[in-house]
Amino acid sequence: MKIAVIPGDGIGKEVMSSAVEVLNELVDLKLEFYEAGDEALQKYGKALPDETLEACKKSDAVLFGAAGETAADVIVRLRQELETFANVRPARAMRGVKCLYPGLDVVVIRENTECLYKGWEFKEKGSAFAIRLITETASERIARFAFEFARKEGRKKVTALHKANVMKLTCGTFRDVCRRVAREYKDIAFNEYYIDAGCMFLVMDPFRFDVIVTTNMFGDIVSDLVAGLVGGLGIAPSANVGEKHAIFEPVHGAAFDIAGKGIANPTAMLLTTAMMLRHLGFSEEAKKVEIAVEDTIASGKTTPDLGGKLKTSEFTREVVKKLGEI
Ligand code: ATP
Repeated sequence: MKIAVIPGDGIGKEVMSSAVEVLNELVDLKLEFYEAGDEALQKYGKALPDETLEACKKSDAVLFGAAGETAADVIVRLRQELETFANVRPARAMRGVKCLYPGLDVVVIRENTECLYKGWEFKEKGSAFAIRLITETASERIARFAFEFARKEGRKKVTALHKANVMKLTCGTFRDVCRRVAREYKDIAFNEYYIDAGCMFLVMDPFRFDVIVTTNMFGDIVSDLVAGLVGGLGIAPSANVGEKHAIFEPVHGAAFDIAGKGIANPTAMLLTTAMMLRHLGFSEEAKKVEIAVEDTIASGKTTPDLGGKLKTSEFTREVVKKLGEI
C-alpha cells in the first residue's frame, strides 16, 4: 500500500518523524514523502505543488503533518480536491492526561467541503463579503455519515449543531436534512442545539454528547473546543474521509511558537496514524498504537504540554518501547 506523507511546516515535521518511526515498527507500507506548505510556496511558488496533489490522488491514504500560513491553500484545498467530505475528530480523555472531563469520549463529524470555508470572499467599496454554501446533497452525505459512524462504533446518539433560527436558509437546510436522515436511524437517538447553546452545554455538561454533526466552520471551532475538554491539541487526532480518498492529520496546526524546540507532543499525530492504520485494515496495529501511547502517558512520561519533561523524540522512543511489550 502506498502512503503519501506530507510533513509540512513547523511542528508538522517533528511529529511526522514520530509517526514514521512508529509505522516502521509495525507495518510494511510504502511511505512516499512530498512537500506542501509555507516552505513549498517559497521554493516552488506553490503551496500545494502539482506533484504532491497528483501523488495524493494516487495513494491509498495521505498522512499530513501541518501547514502554517498556507493552510487554506494546502489542507483545505486538499480536502476539497480529494472530496474527503467528512472530517472525523474524536476527543477522548486518556488515562494520565489531566483534563476538565476525565471519562469524556465524544466525536465531532464536521462537513468538510462547503460552508464559509469555501473561501468565496470578495471586497467592494470598503465592504467585505463571504458567501456561505450549504447544499442538501452535502448535508445529507454528512448526516448519513454521522449516523452510519454512530452505528458502526456502537454509539447511541447524534447531535446536530446549527444556527437555523438566524441563518434560516443555510443552517435551516442543514437542520431539515439532519432531521429527515435521523428518521431513518431509529436505533440512534437524535437531538439538536443551536451552536451557541451547544457550546455552553459542551463546557458545562459534555457527557450529554456522543456524536456531534455540524457544518464546516462550526465544526472547526467545536472540535478545538472539545479537544480542550480532554487535554488540548497535543492529543487530538483527525481523519478526512471520502468515497475514494482519505487524509489523516492532527487537529493542531504548525504551532510555530514551539516549532524547532523538539517539544511538540506527537500524541495527536500518533493517534491520527492509528486512525489511518484502522482505515487501511490494520485494526490490530491501530489498537497497539493507541494502547502504547496511552500506557506511556499513564506511566507519567509526557511532553511539556501535558506537564512532563520529555522531548518529542524521547516520548516517541518510550512509545516504541511499549509497542515492543504489547
Ligand atoms: P491552525 O490555525 O492551523 O490550527 P496554529 O498554529 O494557529 O494552527 P495550533 O498549531 O493549532 O495553532 O496550536 C495552537 C497552540 O497549541 C500552539 O501554539 C501550541 O502552543 C499548542 N499546540 C498545538 N499542537 C501542539 C502539540 N502537538 N504539542 C504541544 N503543543 C501544541
